[in-house]
Amino acid sequence: MFEIQIYNKVRNNIMKNFKRTLVTTALPYANGPVHIGHLAGVYVPADIYVRYLRLKGDDVLYIGGSDEHGVPITLKARKEGVSPQDVVDKYHTLIKDSFEKFGISFDIYSRTSNSTHHKTASEFFKKLYDKGVFIEKESDQYYDEEAGQFLADRYITGTCPHCNNPAAYGDQCESCGTSLNATDLINPRSVISGSTPQLRKTKHWYLPLDRYQEFLEKWILKEHKEWKPNVYGQCKSWLDLGLQPRAVSRDLDWGVPVPVEGAEGKVLYVWFDAPIGYISATRELTPDWEKYWKDPETRMIHFIGKDNIVFHCIVFPTMLKAEGSFILPDNVPANEFLNLEGDKISTSRNWAVWLHEYLVDFEGKQDVLRYVLTANAPETKDNDFTWKDFQARNNNELVAILGNFVNRAVVLTHKYFEGNVPEKGKTEVLDTQTLEAIPDIVKRVSANLDHFKFREALREAMSLARLGNKYLADTEPWKLIKTDVERVKTILNVSLQITANLAVVMEPFLPFTAQKMRDMLNMTEPRWVDGGNTELLSPSHAIGEAKLLFEKIEDAKIQEQLDRLARTKVSNEADNKEAEPAKEDVSFEEFTKMDIRVGTILEAEKVPKTKKLLKLKVDTGIDKRTVVSGIAGYFEPEKIIGQQVCILVNLAPRKIRGIESQGMILMAEDADGRLDFVAPTTKIKAGSQIS
Ligand SMILES: [Zn+2]
Repeated sequence: MFEIQIYNKVRNNIMKNFKRTLVTTALPYANGPVHIGHLAGVYVPADIYVRYLRLKGDDVLYIGGSDEHGVPITLKARKEGVSPQDVVDKYHTLIKDSFEKFGISFDIYSRTSNSTHHKTASEFFKKLYDKGVFIEKESDQYYDEEAGQFLADRYITGTCPHCNNPAAYGDQCESCGTSLNATDLINPRSVISGSTPQLRKTKHWYLPLDRYQEFLEKWILKEHKEWKPNVYGQCKSWLDLGLQPRAVSRDLDWGVPVPVEGAEGKVLYVWFDAPIGYISATRELTPDWEKYWKDPETRMIHFIGKDNIVFHCIVFPTMLKAEGSFILPDNVPANEFLNLEGDKISTSRNWAVWLHEYLVDFEGKQDVLRYVLTANAPETKDNDFTWKDFQARNNNELVAILGNFVNRAVVLTHKYFEGNVPEKGKTEVLDTQTLEAIPDIVKRVSANLDHFKFREALREAMSLARLGNKYLADTEPWKLIKTDVERVKTILNVSLQITANLAVVMEPFLPFTAQKMRDMLNMTEPRWVDGGNTELLSPSHAIGEAKLLFEKIEDAKIQEQLDRLARTKVSNEADNKEAEPAKEDVSFEEFTKMDIRVGTILEAEKVPKTKKLLKLKVDTGIDKRTVVSGIAGYFEPEKIIGQQVCILVNLAPRKIRGIESQGMILMAEDADGRLDFVAPTTKIKAGSQIS
């Protein structure tokens, strides 16, 4: 009790001054689709939070959009031979569509290549410029003389000075994770031409973070001790290191042009322009946007992954503070990372579960993924997603606990009372205890949601279904129906009230399922205030038909996903495989001893009782001879008749499985073990010599 009082006091102090909430989510980068790591870290928790506030009747806006500027986009465009606009159009559409199907309930999902954003970002920069906030500084940057352009960030690669990774980028080494300056790299090379770049002077604008150090220390370290320990800790270590001015412009032709004279060929650095995207999107959504960004009675929350903490807690607040008219975030509940089957999720290595693919492979099962990603959310430490855990949570929790309870309550009501909510008669102790537990559970769900503890909130919400299952198991209405109909009426009334409460509290977590439950119960739009009400359904209210909420996921379905990941692993290993070192030198005379000819396969058949061997008849031009070759794993005998090959004809004959093999067909072996013929690209007469 004492704890609850203290807690309420703290909570009132935190909450009392806010009239509305603005929730922003990190802008996904439009050079690839979104994956489960993005969802677990940012979009699912934010969506739960926003749905919860909406249920409470709060004024809340949920802002999202694609980040469409920066070097990875222009590099991808160059690699694919398309324009940067083509790249961002493709992925923005894919990302927006998959979020929608997954039930992420943005009020707007915008993009940073549109004109409202260009205007907003440009004005923002101009205002800081006019106030004299920036430091203008000339520095030496790498320039590609062949391509005639400066090389920003990932346009340059070289060897990492910390870990010797030969493929580190101009802004970061992905191998050891260190942030780099291009000039730190050993043996820098231009990604465009491959040439060694030269240093040239260029002017850029810097945000003097160091001048805001004192303000940030007070604002974060003193006034926001309630931030999550991982967020607070990361901010503290940045501040302890001492902040440095940070460039906010780049020499590039894709992005928001720097809106001042003498800045031709320069754009805003993507990390300056992206968070302004939250403002632009709000501006696009409503003419009232300033109310959400400038009124101190607005509570702003940034949902992000841990890799974005410094930008949302230090860089963006400094920009907002320097501008002067904006509010600062009240909280930044960043999550840690989600791994996949024990390995770091990676877009470039294709090691991910992609949302758009999940939506096809597990059609209609959005809530299963939402459930698993929340139950296993990386809230306080990195966590691992495994397909086995996904299956187990679906089968043992969603099917066996939630689905099973709701189904029994609805089916029994139809069976015994023609689908009408029965009257609650005289209650026993168990009934009263059960009913009293409902509002307590709902309160605990609320308290956890208020503190961004989504895992715990979901666990509490599920405890309501557990309560229902236990109640049915203890009361056994299916036995009592023969002897005590009045008692069964009370039991099913209580069970249906639990179900109705589940239809309310599950809405933020499992919106598709909660909607189905409300359809089943003929309930109107939910309100959070209804949670805990033990008379949500009136006696004789007619409920609808039972619907299947969840179904068991079979092993085969999971195995498909595991097989796909296994194939990715093999192909990644093959991509990374390095060529074998060269063998010892041979003399030209030694080489010419080998008699290699062009031949044509005339016949092919499998060698019985072997998996790998084919018996071939080859026209060598000299003769027609038999060769045994270990290629059956890769070629169907009937498909290689007529194939031209290179054959070593003077290899001493040897017996293989009782067959005399006279020569050897030359094969190339790919990194993954796949074999292919080495053959002329045009038809060559059999017997022609290879030299
Ligand atoms: Zn490194």
